[in-house]
Amino acid sequence: MAKDPMLKFVSKAQAYPEKRAPELRAEDFDEIAKRYAPEAAADQASRCSQCGVPYCSVHCPLHNHIPDWLRLTAEGRLREAYELSNLTSTMPEICGRICPQDRLCEGNCVIEFSGHDAVTIGSVEKYITDTAWEQGWVEPIEVGPARGQSVGIIGGGPGGLTTAEYLRVAGYDVHVYDRYDRMGGLLTYGIPGFKLEKDVVMRRIKRLEDSGIIFHCNFEVGRDAPLDDLRAKHDAVLIATGVYKARDIKTPGIGLAGIVPALDYLTASNRKGFGDTVEAFESGALNAKDKDVVVIGGGDTAMDCVRTAIRQGAKSVKCLYRRDRENMPGSQREVANAEEEGVEFVWLSGPKGFDGTDKVERVHVSKMRLGAPDASGRRAPEHDPAGDFTVNADLVITALGFEAEDLPVLFGAPDLNVTRWGTIRVDHMTQMTNLDGVFAIGDIVRGASLVVWAIRDGRDVTQHIHNWLQAKAKAAKVAA
Ligand SMILES: Cc1cc2nc3c(=O)[nH]c(=O)nc-3n(C[C@H](O)[C@H](O)[C@H](O)COP(=O)(O)OP(=O)(O)OC[C@H]3O[C@@H](n4cnc5c(N)ncnc54)[C@H](O)[C@@H]3O)c2cc1C
Ligand code: SF4
Repeated sequence: MAKDPMLKFVSKAQAYPEKRAPELRAEDFDEIAKRYAPEAAADQASRCSQCGVPYCSVHCPLHNHIPDWLRLTAEGRLREAYELSNLTSTMPEICGRICPQDRLCEGNCVIEFSGHDAVTIGSVEKYITDTAWEQGWVEPIEVGPARGQSVGIIGGGPGGLTTAEYLRVAGYDVHVYDRYDRMGGLLTYGIPGFKLEKDVVMRRIKRLEDSGIIFHCNFEVGRDAPLDDLRAKHDAVLIATGVYKARDIKTPGIGLAGIVPALDYLTASNRKGFGDTVEAFESGALNAKDKDVVVIGGGDTAMDCVRTAIRQGAKSVKCLYRRDRENMPGSQREVANAEEEGVEFVWLSGPKGFDGTDKVERVHVSKMRLGAPDASGRRAPEHDPAGDFTVNADLVITALGFEAEDLPVLFGAPDLNVTRWGTIRVDHMTQMTNLDGVFAIGDIVRGASLVVWAIRDGRDVTQHIHNWLQAKAKAAKVAA
């Protein structure tokens, strides 16, 4: 009988793909680690304990069949591993790169609980589907028999694109409208190349385009057409517009030149990566080269900004965050990467004011301490009279999170129901808004969230849109 290749977590240590040296990483926007060699992938996959109730799958928003594709990888049956992984996800190689695995699948791996370090699930997932692309196993989308009904999708981020793919497979005509000149949403213009190289996103988009999905770039719903026009043109509409209104701070001096919102900064950098001419970058306004940079915030967007600034050749990069390391929202892995690359974290500190002559030159910083827990259970930061200080800055990047834009106003749709946070209110059983045949998913419903949740929403809403369109077609037949 063949020897079982699994359960090797005692004899084989956890090993992520090797990271490049920080000095080399700082020279380009390529991903910091390449993928596993085949033997290493099989070895790491073989550490899985194949537990009866796989908590990794339970805590993966897509409920990926993780232990099964780990076994297939360990057995060298890579094409089958790919087919299985592809069943539940439209972008496994993207999730493998950018999911915060320490909070999702890997953070709930049973062998981690027993002190043996989690299986490196995300890295194996990336390896499987990258190999599939290379080997030509990723086939064109098979379009179902034409149904004669169309769906308009507003927003070409991971939520909109996932829905577009599944609806096309089901035989619908699909149109995606996006205000940017490229599809992909934050995968394209938010997340930097050192976490997610752009050709990985572009090859997915090309596959969608090749299936007959019609992309309308540079089309902003609201500016170029009200929501009602799309409702008249399509049998159903999906809103997947994400959240883009930057949270601001009301601090003296905030209006000075040289203080910029995170997404403007990251978008300019990503555009440069595509080879675009970006005026605000060429002028230096959104370029950190030779500057003392201060980033304000402690989430993943702040981490992306500090690491982008390092790669642009900043003189110094500081990250100010009002809580401490243990209480920051950003991933600990990203903090470690940033520290290796030379970022200085100034914990328990918040901006008190900015000053400078024509543009920002200094940030006055309040020292903070952690007080009693707030409503969320986290200890609330409060001013620590022990000591304020000042740091020099030529460029300040604010990364304090995102809120929903005012869609009822922007879309010319005052009847569209939203929550008090401005996110779209949906019936959670159907993901439909209060407007008949208008559905909504992703960040614009959840608030700022994760790529994997947008994909999950896209998978779920496809079924609801399909049911609704089938009922509509049936009713039209009866009426005729
Ligand atoms: C800097 C940054 C880094 C991140 N890093 C990670 C990470 O490492 N891992 C992770 O899981 N998540 C990360 N996230 C979060 C993740 O990117 C989002 O949760 C996810 O992209 C949401 O998907 P979505 O489809 O709902 O919206 P989006 O990706 O935001 O896409 C929405 C699309 O709608 C378009 N749009 C908006 N309004 C209109 C309009 N009126 N008309 C036409 N088009 C419109 C936009 O142009 C955009 O293309 C990050 C977010 C940011 C900002
Ligand atoms: S999709 Fe994300 S959470 Fe699920 S297995 Fe992949 S990396 Fe883990």
